[in-house]
Amino acid sequence: LSKNDHQDSKGNPSRNAPPSSSRPQTQAPPQPASSLANTIGNTPLTLLPTLSRLTQCSIYAKLELLNPGGSPKDRVARSILHSLQHPSSTNTPPLAPGDTIYEAPSAQLALRESSEEASVWHTKAFEEGVRGEVEIFADIPALLKRQSGEGNDDDAGSTKHDPDAKSDSIIINITGRAHFANQFESPANYRAHYHTTGPEIYTQMDGQIDAFVAGAGTGGTISGVGLYLKEKTHRPPRVVLADPTGSGLYNKVKHNIFFSPTEREGTRRRSQVDTIIEGIGLTRSTFNWQVGDDAGVVDDAVRVTDEEARRMARWLCWREGWFVGGSSAVNCVAALRTALALGPGHRIVTIFCDSGMRHLSKFWAGIDPADSSAIGDVGEASMAELEE
Ligand code: PMP
Repeated sequence: LSKNDHQDSKGNPSRNAPPSSSRPQTQAPPQPASSLANTIGNTPLTLLPTLSRLTQCSIYAKLELLNPGGSPKDRVARSILHSLQHPSSTNTPPLAPGDTIYEAPSAQLALRESSEEASVWHTKAFEEGVRGEVEIFADIPALLKRQSGEGNDDDAGSTKHDPDAKSDSIIINITGRAHFANQFESPANYRAHYHTTGPEIYTQMDGQIDAFVAGAGTGGTISGVGLYLKEKTHRPPRVVLADPTGSGLYNKVKHNIFFSPTEREGTRRRSQVDTIIEGIGLTRSTFNWQVGDDAGVVDDAVRVTDEEARRMARWLCWREGWFVGGSSAVNCVAALRTALALGPGHRIVTIFCDSGMRHLSKFWAGIDPADSSAIGDVGEASMAELEE
């Protein structure tokens, strides 16, 4: 179609123009960004019409998968970089050209040998004009041993600066001065969401939010957004954790138990849990999970099975048009249950963390593309009964 196909000579809509209801709403596009870092955030929020209709609520997804790196980790990387450039302690030297930034990937990530998260940090370092060299070697049998509890707790899933130990360790070879990004423990993580994601959601929802639903991998998103919305809104929303099978957080939230200091240390070995859902679930506490006062930011939790998540992912793809990863599907199952529990008329916000493209081999591999059946009984009520 040429530019004029939908206009007559006076610039009015022609007979061939699509009806106004189906035309995209035009908005002034944002001005050019001065760097990649300035394209991070300000992601759209969209209503999920079918889930909303099914629950008679309004369920929205924040499209974090549209960040330049494809996930909300861009916000966190930018915030951690800033904290490294401006350290709070005078004993810590600020990040300088030639320094290396490293992040300990979880054992689970290393097992896939993908080093996805590590490469994200690597890229960000280059963006800011900082040269960093990060090499990760993973010895699979040693990691498996460690995951089964036979390994040495002290260095499990973390970094080791010993090239000779290459055969049984994850090694990050670093030349020059190194800075540990430490997304699990760095306050710059939840602050990224407190200062950007939370305010964006508040503005986009006009402050009218009954529940915010999200999973926790480090805890940064749910704590940062949850804390901001609770402080800012007149009627604070319910903050609901979407937790996959095997994660230790669900029981903690349900029974209102905080991780004890011993538990924090004692369960350090396995920070991510065994499920097809990648990126969320914790069996230990992190600073970013325990943000806030003793009552915590999180009010409630919903347990989601792998099968429920797969069914939801299929539904989102077929019925909503969104091809998302496992954690986004878990979020939607929990959002749906939250909506059903709250009842008609409520406004619920959740997160689309990343695209299904990143989860082809594990999560999407188990989904039959030919199966376009209904969500089934995701949620306590049978969704089939609620269908049109
Ligand atoms: N989804 C995916 C795919 C992730 O990788 C992560 C982060 N590990 C999350 C959700 C959860 O984010 P957070 O670390 O802020 O808890």
